[in-house]
Amino acid sequence: MGDGSVLPSADPVLPASSTAPVSTPVLNTTRSQEIFTAAQKLMPGGVSSPVRAFKSVGGQPIVFDHVNGAYAWDVDGNRYIDYIGSWGPAICGHAHPEVIAALHAALDKGTSFGAPCVLENQLAELVIAAVPSIEMVRFVNSGTEACMSVLRLMRAFTGREKIIKFEGCYHGHADMFLVKAGSGVATLGLPDSPGVPRSTTASTLTAPYNDLEAVKQLFAENGGEIAGVILEPVVGNAGFITPEAGFLEGLREITREHGALLVFDEVMTGFRISYGGAQARFGITPDLTTMGKVIGGGLPVGAYGGRADIMAMVAPAGPMYQAGTLSGNPLAMTAGIKTLELLKQPGSYERLDTITKRLSEGIGLAARAAGLPYSGGSISAMFGFFLCEGPVRNFEEAKATDSVRFGKLHRAMLERGVYLAPSSFEAGFTSLAHSDADIDATIEAFRGAFAEIA
Ligand SMILES: *Cc1c(COP(=O)(O)O)cnc(C)c1O
Repeated sequence: MGDGSVLPSADPVLPASSTAPVSTPVLNTTRSQEIFTAAQKLMPGGVSSPVRAFKSVGGQPIVFDHVNGAYAWDVDGNRYIDYIGSWGPAICGHAHPEVIAALHAALDKGTSFGAPCVLENQLAELVIAAVPSIEMVRFVNSGTEACMSVLRLMRAFTGREKIIKFEGCYHGHADMFLVKAGSGVATLGLPDSPGVPRSTTASTLTAPYNDLEAVKQLFAENGGEIAGVILEPVVGNAGFITPEAGFLEGLREITREHGALLVFDEVMTGFRISYGGAQARFGITPDLTTMGKVIGGGLPVGAYGGRADIMAMVAPAGPMYQAGTLSGNPLAMTAGIKTLELLKQPGSYERLDTITKRLSEGIGLAARAAGLPYSGGSISAMFGFFLCEGPVRNFEEAKATDSVRFGKLHRAMLERGVYLAPSSFEAGFTSLAHSDADIDATIEAFRGAFAEIA
């Protein structure tokens, strides 16, 4: 095949409910396997970040060679329609020509100044204009850094130590957030990973997502000790889970009542759920917000921001220390600025909404046609599904879904040229580069794959 596509030709006469044997397309990934085998001797698990290793879906990871638009090409020359988009940043499509051109120009002026540059002002102005809660912003280099910094700020501003996070929400890999929620509403956090001291997570309280009563109980039991509540306003790290009506509003009220801060971790949802993030979409204004992924346009960037009186605590304006050698570097700022400029153009989010909704509905119909249980949905450029009768409201319910079957589905989709996140606990991402034909081909691939695994 010319472009190395592994997409099977669509068979328009195959009825949706067909139980006829489905021929499994063959995927040759010899070179990927050689490279990954070598990588395992060089790096723990062969990867630089764990989910990439495909452990939760089985099989070997695909090693990419290059990406462009909606596609990724692996080292064996296979092409995939990509629904990860580098885990979020590629919302305008991979290697967007305008982003690449801006980066080329920036590169010639040097990669890092370690001094103020006007590009920081430009990205800050874009972020502040877009995100309702953000009056001032600090740039860092990753979502993890943004979340660990915002936690310090929550504590510095309130003079309180405890925080509430939700079971299944991911806020990067800083110690304080690596808490496995035990059963029961008031469970004190025990570390989720060796190497995290119990003392570090002792102040991290957890509640099930979408459970306001649990949050109220934690506030009742911990009185004036809670600095604030942090959450993904739409969950993408426990699969795709949406906030039920009243949940975000309730958190806003409870935190205000107790003099605690409300923090939206919009590292994933920022500039994806809408140009102003989930907070603009749902009309709830948190005190502080973390961002990452999209605002870096594919380069390492994170940010935290919020009310000016709180941000005034951050050094050197205030006493809360936080710094970064490469923070605000011109390359990262350039990719972020160009990406936001592209997203700001009229119609971007309508387009993302339309294609993602169509994809999500197509996946649902395909699953039902194959007789599989299904629950799923989408908001703007974010989608997800579980192979169970929903609704899935929290992490406990997400964990109860069939992960073995998801692993088979993942493989069957790869063989049909579609690259999904290699875990049922991740959301899917679309981009402005996904064409109607890409969406159709993906739905067709789902029909074949669901029939194969049903
Ligand atoms: C990805 C993510 C993070 C961590 O960001 P990194 O850049 O991977 O460190 C934090 N919070 C949320 C909601 C995320 O999706």
